[in-house]
Amino acid sequence: MENKVNKKVAFHTLGCKVNICETEALIRIFENSGYTVVDFNDKADIYVINTCSVTNIADRKSRQMIHRARKAAPDAVIIATGCYVEGLDEETAGELNCDRLIDNAHKNEIVAQAEKIAITKMGKHVRADVKIEDGCNQFCSYCIIPYRRGRVSCRPQDSILREVSQLAATGHKEIVLAGIHISSYGRDKLAGLIRSIGDIEGIERVRLGSLEPRLIDEKFLEGLRGVRQFCPHFHLSLQSGCDKTLKAMNRHYTTDEFRRGVELIRSCWEHPAITTDVIAGFPGESREDFEISKAFTDEMRFYQMHIFPYSRRKGTAADRMPGQLTMAEKQKRVDELEEINNRNTQAFIDYYIGRDMEVLVEENDGEYLTGHTPEYVRVKLPTEDYGTECINSLVRCRGDKFILS
Ligand code: SF4
Repeated sequence: MENKVNKKVAFHTLGCKVNICETEALIRIFENSGYTVVDFNDKADIYVINTCSVTNIADRKSRQMIHRARKAAPDAVIIATGCYVEGLDEETAGELNCDRLIDNAHKNEIVAQAEKIAITKMGKHVRADVKIEDGCNQFCSYCIIPYRRGRVSCRPQDSILREVSQLAATGHKEIVLAGIHISSYGRDKLAGLIRSIGDIEGIERVRLGSLEPRLIDEKFLEGLRGVRQFCPHFHLSLQSGCDKTLKAMNRHYTTDEFRRGVELIRSCWEHPAITTDVIAGFPGESREDFEISKAFTDEMRFYQMHIFPYSRRKGTAADRMPGQLTMAEKQKRVDELEEINNRNTQAFIDYYIGRDMEVLVEENDGEYLTGHTPEYVRVKLPTEDYGTECINSLVRCRGDKFILS
């Protein structure tokens, strides 16, 4: 297959003759899949360390070779197999800093495993989450996070920009600004940060994590529109479309305010993606409250809703509230919301049929390239039409049957 041509794999074998024979067998598996075997000191896409555990020294050497490979090739796929990895406890396995441990019984899956990891790594290489804030002061009645993570603390802008510059230098094209409650970073500071990120060479996209609906105003959106790389994908956490339930949740907005935010966003971009989270079956949510919430979510025409049945957390106000619903009832409400979600997701995606889209290509599974549009619609493109060189670049294509959500 085309994506395997020119892929390089390197082996290091420790221990006995059995290991040497097994490495020979692994080499054949990789060569049959189109790989070129190179010296362990050369640059490779995949490094396989066939370990030994006959003595403590063999254990230590096995660990050293794994660390050496990782140090020499931070972005490569590192796989350890052989006797040392057999039955390793999770803690030691986690400390090894390799991508996968493959025990002797699963050695024949080694190529498939390595390629799966390579695809994930390439995806990670394209997009990076950058933390700009931690903690939360909102105290939603169902949430334990403010107790666990403490109050808001914002990361200084120069530290964020340094990290983004480093990520750009290592080929990352898309930055997602993340945090527990990034709205606490402040409207003006957030807009300014996005502007500064847009000035960093190599950054082609900037995306925001979850935002408070109340943060949305004309000036903020105007600021975002002025940044070429800004992706019009807004995740506004609704949680409920019923004002009575929002109040019980201690959410600090009403459905009217939420609607105004959505309308403003839609007045600024032609087809922005608006996604959300919704909780079904909050304590005291009557059937009537739920119907109100459901109708509101439909009215908002979200691109995607992440729908959760309400889950009790000890130590939260909601856990002590009367009117807890049964799991069966909560699940029923989730299912009803999912129906709305499926319909609205499809309608959002159908918009692209016959239209031009810009895709940042992230993965190649041999048959298809996969990437996302600025609105975070996942798109598959046939590899034979686009070639594999466009990984980590922006390509233009026409929305058609290859679109996925
Ligand atoms: S749900 Fe979000 S905003 Fe509310 S308390 Fe938890 S972290 Fe804060």
